[in-house]
Amino acid sequence: MASVTLANINKWYGHTVHAVRDVSLTIEDGEFFGLLGPSGSGKTSVLRMLAGLESATSGSILFDGVPVEDKSPQERNIAMVFEQNALYPHMTARQNISYPLKIRGLSKANIDAKVAEVAGMLNIAHLIDRRASQMSGGQQQRVAIARALVRDPNLLCLDEPIAHLDTLLRARLRGELKRLQRSLGTTSVIVTHDPIEAMTMTDRLAVMRDGILQQVGTADEIHSRPVNAFVAQFFGLHSINLMSIEGVVELPRLMGRFGGETTHLPTALRPNVSSDAKLLLGCRPSGLDVRRAGEAKPSADMLQVRGKVYVSEQLGDSLLVTVQIGPDTVQALIPNDRKFGIDEPVDVLADEAALYVFDPKTQGTVRFAPRTISPGLGNPPAVYA
Ligand code: ADP
Ligand code: MG
Repeated sequence: MASVTLANINKWYGHTVHAVRDVSLTIEDGEFFGLLGPSGSGKTSVLRMLAGLESATSGSILFDGVPVEDKSPQERNIAMVFEQNALYPHMTARQNISYPLKIRGLSKANIDAKVAEVAGMLNIAHLIDRRASQMSGGQQQRVAIARALVRDPNLLCLDEPIAHLDTLLRARLRGELKRLQRSLGTTSVIVTHDPIEAMTMTDRLAVMRDGILQQVGTADEIHSRPVNAFVAQFFGLHSINLMSIEGVVELPRLMGRFGGETTHLPTALRPNVSSDAKLLLGCRPSGLDVRRAGEAKPSADMLQVRGKVYVSEQLGDSLLVTVQIGPDTVQALIPNDRKFGIDEPVDVLADEAALYVFDPKTQGTVRFAPRTISPGLGNPPAVYA
């Protein structure tokens, strides 16, 4: 096990692709750390540099404070699991798992004991003498993880290890990987483009975009205090709604235009109005409410704007309503005891406490929503006329 530090890491591919830009971060000993970002954001490049499969163009990498740039993956004692596992198809699970130990010259008794232990942890004991080619994708991936763990690595590197599995299996393996990592305490880094994976499995995570580290923190910190509009939009069960409000005036109530529609604004946002009378607001779907047009009266604590229902989707215990406001749309997650027809006129409402404000130019966060709303929980505003 080891702590891992990246200091001012840059990665260029040739002279044109600057894939990783001055990334610095520390992964604690025993931590389960996530690298999250859209495709092409540089996650795999960071992981491969950590593992020693790729060299950094500049910057340094330290394991327990010791530079490792000159060390091979073997010397760093890295284990890796990729999206496409690299099992030997004609070998059994046992042969695949014991392979790295055989190379190291461990005794047969020692190997058997280790294989049995790790096979038990990954629930693959019953498959141990089956060939890899005769297993399902999920079973193969468990064997690949077992093979990675069997040699007590300093660092376990997982690159989208469950991304290609079906939804149910992915959810199960997510939980199993988390339990496994906890019980072993192996410092682990997982690369994923899926915010749910990152948020459910890891202790802390880093959000990347275009090779640039955006934010590092726990899932809760990043969810409730995103540093900019990109992180706010990317991180969460449902993407945050961005509402670009123009022509903000006080008459005496604060008002502006969103999607061309008159929009009542909470008085609390007055200090956040930019010098050119704009407000870039963010609101999670769980912080928006939808009411039949005219049902709710404007209040000085609420955002309120008229729109019409584009579509409403049943999500089991909640309803995801997409509302069209001029050329814009917003999504609200509300209790499913209400029904809306397509094109029905509605008011969209948000409590002041559910609103983020971003700088319209830099997109940086200038105001966090004072009330944190759990991801995925319909949490409608409390005040109605
Ligand atoms: P991610 O894992 O987040 O999808 P990558 O680290 O794989 O991102 O890629 C980051 C950027 O670097 C992308 O623009 C990708 O096209 C580019 N890239 C990755 N590997 C290479 C390579 N071997 N040669 C040239 N460009 C590469
Ligand atoms: Mg990748």
